[in-house]
Amino acid sequence: MFEDKNHRTELNSLGEFGLIRHLQGLIENKNPSTVKGIGDDAAVIDRSDHYEVLTNDLLIEGVHFDLSYTPLKHLGYKAAMVNISDVFAMNAHPSQITVGLAVSNRFSLEAIEELYGGILLACERFGVDLVGGDTSSTPSGMVISISAIGRVEKDKVVYRSTAQVHDLICVSGNLGAAYIGLQILNREKQIFLENPSVQPDLEGSDYVIERQLKPEARGDIIQALHSADILPTSMIDISDGLASELLHLCAASDKGCRIYEDKIPIDPLTVLKCEDFNINPTISALSGGEDYELLFTISQSDFEKAKAIPSISIIGHITEASAGSALIDKSDHETPIRAQGWDSMKDN
Ligand code: ADP
Ligand code: MG
Repeated sequence: MFEDKNHRTELNSLGEFGLIRHLQGLIENKNPSTVKGIGDDAAVIDRSDHYEVLTNDLLIEGVHFDLSYTPLKHLGYKAAMVNISDVFAMNAHPSQITVGLAVSNRFSLEAIEELYGGILLACERFGVDLVGGDTSSTPSGMVISISAIGRVEKDKVVYRSTAQVHDLICVSGNLGAAYIGLQILNREKQIFLENPSVQPDLEGSDYVIERQLKPEARGDIIQALHSADILPTSMIDISDGLASELLHLCAASDKGCRIYEDKIPIDPLTVLKCEDFNINPTISALSGGEDYELLFTISQSDFEKAKAIPSISIIGHITEASAGSALIDKSDHETPIRAQGWDSMKDN
């Protein structure tokens, strides 16, 4: 990569995932304990009698969050939850996090205490310890980088890459709400900027706004699957939208899929609020992102057991790769699934 000094490749020609794939090509793991490196929700490390999983997420003010409508306590909670969600996506249990924080002098001690209040609340939810981090200053704004580790029995780890043809595709909870919550917050911010005397109109939108500001990692689903004696055949968490994550899972497993529009779980309030913005709720679910639900596949023999778990929806099945990935819409038309989720390096 250092040979042709005159050649310049623009990052937006690769996009975020293209860049990660490129970096992956430059890296060769040397330690036998590195079971899984780049390419899943978390890395997997062999600790003799169990596996440890390790993941990191970066949140940048102005890119991932807007402090004009995000309370610092919520921001801290979300920053920890998105990491914990990646640990659950490996079927592991989170145990420790570290917190890297860069702030400008725009923030007070009380503000940082609020942020940590949120981080610690998320930790408490799942019995996680905050064991370290790093602190630095920035010329402006705030950057939060959290790493999480977790633990899983060796025969229980679940990757993105192991879905099998005919497996059933499942999602937890409902999708698309966090995106529409963000649209409402952005709309009210614009109205406020134009006329600061107008009070924000958030009436009746609590649920979707909460989904945006206070996501909950689905440790309860991991527990419910375990209790029902179901080991998913593959799994990923939904941070960038169902479409993008399905394509990641299918690409990693070298498979295709069929999902059914009428099976995608969408909360009635999401449907209602989508109307205000003229957004098709299915598009919000497919491309909105930030739901932090789990997308996983199960073997057909686990169908009855999965059906008995509330808040799990079966939305389709895995096919051979040659069949591609498609959505069957409500009028029975098949459309290829495309990722229009969050890609921070492409012009969205
Ligand atoms: P997620 O949405 O689950 O957090 P990402 O899409 O951020 O996953 O990352 C996909 C994979 O790429 C993960 O295995 C992650 O560890 C790896 N990855 C992301 N950014 C980098 C980077 N800058 N260097 C090395 N690996 C990276
Ligand atoms: Mg993930």
